[in-house]
Amino acid sequence: MTKLEADVAVVAAGTAGLCAAITAAQAGASVIALEKGATAGGTGNMGMGPFGVESRLQKLKQMGPTRDEAFKMFMDYTHWRVDARLVRAYIDKAATGIDWLESLGVDFVEPTTYFPGGQYTWHLVRSDNGEAAPAGAATMMRVLTERAKELGVHILLQTPAKRLLREGDRVVGVLAEDRDGEPVEVRAGAVIVATGGFGDNPDMIKKHTGYVWGEDLHSFRIPGMEGDGVRMAWEAGAARGEMTMELIFGIPNGDMIPEMHETFRQPHLMVNLDGERFMDEGVMPNTTFTGNAIAIQRERTAFLLFDDTVKRHMQTVGFDFIHVPFPHMKVGDLDALIAGFRAHGSNDVHTAATLEELADLAGIDRDGLLRTVDEYNAACVRGHDPLFAKDHRFLRPLLSPPYYAARHLPGAYGSLGGIKIDHRTQVLDKARRPIPGLYAAGTDANSIYGDSYVFILPGNTMGFAINSGRIAGEEAVAYAESLKG
Ligand SMILES: Cc1cc2nc3c(=O)[nH]c(=O)nc-3n(C[C@H](O)[C@H](O)[C@H](O)COP(=O)(O)OP(=O)(O)OC[C@H]3O[C@@H](n4cnc5c(N)ncnc54)[C@H](O)[C@@H]3O)c2cc1C
Repeated sequence: MTKLEADVAVVAAGTAGLCAAITAAQAGASVIALEKGATAGGTGNMGMGPFGVESRLQKLKQMGPTRDEAFKMFMDYTHWRVDARLVRAYIDKAATGIDWLESLGVDFVEPTTYFPGGQYTWHLVRSDNGEAAPAGAATMMRVLTERAKELGVHILLQTPAKRLLREGDRVVGVLAEDRDGEPVEVRAGAVIVATGGFGDNPDMIKKHTGYVWGEDLHSFRIPGMEGDGVRMAWEAGAARGEMTMELIFGIPNGDMIPEMHETFRQPHLMVNLDGERFMDEGVMPNTTFTGNAIAIQRERTAFLLFDDTVKRHMQTVGFDFIHVPFPHMKVGDLDALIAGFRAHGSNDVHTAATLEELADLAGIDRDGLLRTVDEYNAACVRGHDPLFAKDHRFLRPLLSPPYYAARHLPGAYGSLGGIKIDHRTQVLDKARRPIPGLYAAGTDANSIYGDSYVFILPGNTMGFAINSGRIAGEEAVAYAESLKG
């Protein structure tokens, strides 16, 4: 068995783990990071950028919100059913987070927001090609990995942690396995767990959130996020933090053809399997709200419909809502895009010469759909939606064939929560007492949204990972130092 020692052991080298490791190393601690993957960065390699307030970039552009404003919005949105002290600690830390990342060599394009009315907190990383892009935050993760190594952090790749070591009350280290399956024991003054949640573990998703992956949930499954940290912390006595999915929605695998996908996420007519409307489609760009609304329909299923005139509107005038990751302004040859999508084996997008035929193809109740289209078309003529008061600009009738329908289901960026922590990121036991020497950060410990991801303050999950990681790094060093007397 390989035996190692450090002031702080970090499980793992993803977004929160790297930030925790760098912070601890900057404070002068010796740090070992155990990483399951062959590369560092975790889900951070998939994103575009983190949340920040009061950053240099926001100040330059005269942009809010301040930390106080963001805190109040956050607590209002979550109805105060989450740990306000943890939220406050996170947002306070995020007020220096972006500048800290810049000091390490991370470059940002600009702060932006996710949808009209959202806050300009989302700091998009300038990727290697000089622009913001999907997965552009991989550049940030590469820079953070380089800085961590320069600061002396010992990153052990392909070395998954298996178990936390406990002596009496205290956590004193972690047992891992190297790439040959040989045991590696790391003794440490403090251990930080940050393994990115359970988004790649359908059993945990089903048990703890009720969704059946591949059936009523089509979430991202980033390889390796199997709930290891959550399990290890529970085994070491940690209490369970609220567990949910970071809900969004979409056509299963639809993002394979973003231009087509965005065409079917515009504020046209949305119905459930009974052919009934169930939401103000103008709310659709808040993908969490739309995911929530779809999740309470029969079979958690919805359809977005429009006719040929609306399609031509999207081809000539363009989209109502522009999606930052895939900023298509218009759609081109939609029929060719749909044909390409079908060629990949999807049966979730339909075209038909009549509404009856469309209903049959999609599996929507025929009478229900015809009734709804009659009502909806009448609302379009009146210019007022009596059901959900949708913005009159989006009221476009379905009159001219062919008709289009796409099936939507809940999706998710990943899981949220599992390990109960306090505002100092100390892991709490079932009696709400800190387990000495044990800290958690990032998705494993992210229960700060309650039932719905706080999308009005975008960049939030990566922002929480970065800043809870920084808090954990500071706290772990202080604890490890205290042991030395
Ligand atoms: C497509 C996509 C786009 C996104 N875009 C954004 C965005 O723009 N802004 C935003 O705020 N959020 C975004 N997110 C979410 C965000 O990236 C994550 O919430 C965040 O990166 C999670 O950080 P983390 O440190 O908790 O986990 P991760 O960064 O996933 O790190 C977890 C690490 O733990 C390792 N690990 C797992 N088990 C073990 C083990 N047993 N031992 C050792 N290591 C282990 C993994 O290999 C991984 O490296 C996006 C997510 C996806 C899927």
